[in-house]
Amino acid sequence: MSLSSGSAGNCYYLGDDLTGKAHCGVLIDAGVSVRALKNALQAEGLDMEAFGAVLVTHDHWDHVRNLASYAKRLKKPIWATEKLHSAFLGRGFCYPFMQSCRRDIEEGKWNEICGFNVRYFEVPHDATQTVGYAIAYGDRKFVIMTDLGRMTEEALSFARQAETVVIESNYDDYMLLHGPYTQELKMRISQGHGHLSNAECAEAIKAFWHPGLERIFLCHLSENNNTHEKATLSAAAALESLGVEVIGNPAPSGTSGLLAEASGSYISHTGSASLPGSGCAVRLLALPRTSPTPLFDL
Ligand SMILES: [Zn+2]
Ligand SMILES: [Zn+2]
Repeated sequence: MSLSSGSAGNCYYLGDDLTGKAHCGVLIDAGVSVRALKNALQAEGLDMEAFGAVLVTHDHWDHVRNLASYAKRLKKPIWATEKLHSAFLGRGFCYPFMQSCRRDIEEGKWNEICGFNVRYFEVPHDATQTVGYAIAYGDRKFVIMTDLGRMTEEALSFARQAETVVIESNYDDYMLLHGPYTQELKMRISQGHGHLSNAECAEAIKAFWHPGLERIFLCHLSENNNTHEKATLSAAAALESLGVEVIGNPAPSGTSGLLAEASGSYISHTGSASLPGSGCAVRLLALPRTSPTPLFDL
């Protein structure tokens, strides 16, 4: 479930099997207020006990704005790299309650966090350090990579093993070039330590697609330099070039096995028998920038 995705704030919830009673989950990033978090979880029949930890991708404000209140009011363990925790200390987060919530995630190994196995990989972005996460639950794998200037081999290798990938599709090249931003900001976004464009995201999808891939969520879309339609069409074209059928709307939780109403965005199958993805299908959704999504079955 995405609670918010973009420069206004980023936060995602990943839970285990909600049909079980003793469910748990993790939050990725802390870009929404405690109140907004509570409301979004409540709308899905969940409460604050539905997650037992917060994972942090990097120290930009749209990802960590509410980290201190999560630590103080919710007393949830905060998992991040040692480098990021050190950066938080220097960014006005040097409260005792932050220290008691601090958990350092170990490099190059799977860390057990709330019943999930979590591994991080570094990505290029202009923060102190920026990471993506590979999260395994049973035999299911989920990968999130938000805020990255370019794709790396390591990120691709994790995505190639995942059924679900959340990947940044930040800007449309033409809109950025002709948009309102200063030349300096345009450069910051588009150089290798800024954000991933629709075209770069499409190339990445072609590189990591594998027959086991079931769904892609496009995240962190720019408000000024992108549209949901442009991002979706670009990613869909990449999948279709491989012969993969694209389904325009991941099925919300509780409808497993059934295709949800595609709300006008269904994109028809154009693959041919000679293409590698022929017979495969991927659900594709560009995440809303500020409103929460429903829970999705992964
Ligand atoms: Zn961001
Ligand atoms: Zn960032």
